[in-house]
Amino acid sequence: MSIFRKTSLACPACKAAVEFDEVHSVNADRRPDLRLAILDDTFQQQVCPNCGRQFRLDPAFNLMDTRYGQWIDAAPLSELKNWKAREEHSRSLFNRAYGAEASELAQEIGAGLTPRLTFGWPALREKLLAAENQLDDTALELCKAVVMRNADSPVSARSELRLIDVTEDELTFAWMLSADESPGPTLRLGRALYEEVAADGDGDWDELKDDFANALFVDLNRLMISGEAPQTPAEPPSGFTAPEAPAAAGASAPETAPGQTGAGAGIKDTGVAGAAEEAAADEEEDSETTASEPKSKKSAGEAKKAKTKGSAKKKGDGKKKK
Ligand SMILES: [Zn+2]
Repeated sequence: MSIFRKTSLACPACKAAVEFDEVHSVNADRRPDLRLAILDDTFQQQVCPNCGRQFRLDPAFNLMDTRYGQWIDAAPLSELKNWKAREEHSRSLFNRAYGAEASELAQEIGAGLTPRLTFGWPALREKLLAAENQLDDTALELCKAVVMRNADSPVSARSELRLIDVTEDELTFAWMLSADESPGPTLRLGRALYEEVAADGDGDWDELKDDFANALFVDLNRLMISGEAPQTPAEPPSGFTAPEAPAAAGASAPETAPGQTGAGAGIKDTGVAGAAEEAAADEEEDSETTASEPKSKKSAGEAKKAKTKGSAKKKGDGKKKK
């Protein structure tokens, strides 16, 4: 069941009230068009009828697609800094819907689903793209680690690497500016490298793989962001503010982790036309997609994994490149 609710949002440009069909849940088995709209970067995007400004709502919904075995808790980028608490929230959400706490029938469906947590549109799109191209998402993150070891990569606290295209021979990644998810420079990786990393004949990647084992948030960001940044009261609520102009890339403050700068914006202007606006008339309470409970079970293992960017890099450098 795909669930939309009519809501009224203030246009980020002219502040006029705009009717919006806000998505809460996507069943891509029944609505493959919604999956396509995510891949097209047109989902949850709309034009203000008053001033013509195009804007897009941050993701805050669940997606299920049994064809690809995917269940994704798609969270807004602004919550990235609290990923640990959010991951626990996602895990309990999945357990209630398709896991140990669900009905027998739901558990049967759940057995074919891999739960994941993403922050922001590019991360969500990346998971869909990977699944459709039979790419293992853990291996994909390991490939990014290979790229980030490269001294030429424009790695900074303000950008993150996302898969944007896949061909028979190559994977294309783009450096996305964390503040507003705008795409930066791209780079291509031979599919052979991916295959090599995925096969991991020498066990070179065991340590990194351990970091992703049983994780819902399968993303290099989990090694770079402690997940425990305090919530500043001044932070605007997600879903209602226009983004600041993107800050100049490159000037990375040492204490700023990816996604922590200007990530409170919930609506962003976009340059692409068209919107997925078909609203399902039905409403059904089946999921809770927003609030993240601040109770996170902190084990010694998790604390150990909470790496600063510096130490995550060091860890990577310590490994031999094949
Ligand atoms: Zn407007």
